[in-house]
Amino acid sequence: MYPVKEKLNEVRQSLPEGVRLVAISKFHPEEYIMAAYEEGQRVFGESHEQELARKVQTLPRDIEWHFIGHLQTNKVKYLAPYISMIEAVDSLKLLREIEKQAAKADRVVRVLLELHIAEEATKYGLTLDACRQLLADGEWRQMTHVQICGLMMMASNVDDKGQIAQEFQVAADFFDEVKQQYFADAPYFCERSWGMSHDYRIAICHGSTMVRVGTTIFGPRVY
Ligand SMILES: *Cc1c(COP(=O)(O)O)cnc(C)c1O
Repeated sequence: MYPVKEKLNEVRQSLPEGVRLVAISKFHPEEYIMAAYEEGQRVFGESHEQELARKVQTLPRDIEWHFIGHLQTNKVKYLAPYISMIEAVDSLKLLREIEKQAAKADRVVRVLLELHIAEEATKYGLTLDACRQLLADGEWRQMTHVQICGLMMMASNVDDKGQIAQEFQVAADFFDEVKQQYFADAPYFCERSWGMSHDYRIAICHGSTMVRVGTTIFGPRVY
């Protein structure tokens, strides 16, 4: 078995105070998640609804699950009863569906708005202008079953550390803009979810409050 406990603790020790770890367990077996759980890790991230539903059934109830993948609106109803945070909200349509399903489940679901800053055309997320538009439109203010807790993004998958740093800084500056304009009185709007295995150390230098680390903790994924 991959040395999950050791790797988890190495990552944790490298995180400054104020940065939380979401252990990304997609495609990894339950026993790996349990190894991390036994070390006290409680926040895990998954990106496929069915895989997550399967894991939720057998794993401890006090795990906080984050959904980090691209989410289709028809899957929201399955997540709404238990998900702790939906990290990658990239449309008003999806936000509306989360509101609807969370209301049915009589819950408030915490969400992050996903930004598209990376150069890759294939990545999901809102452009900065689309995000400004969504917030200016104001429909979200009427939603009592979703709480917008911050922003999430992925940097370009490149070797150029300067480019990665620059993208994280764009996101950090945008967070400040949005915080000031819409969430100045909302202490819960405080999360900046950026940084993965290969770039989380850079992300921390650019305001990350939440890193999403998979491979470094659990080893290569077996698809
Ligand atoms: C898979 C995934 C991660 C974790 O990636 P690693 O490189 O394994 O750390 C982080 N964020 C998102 C959105 C992911 O899909």
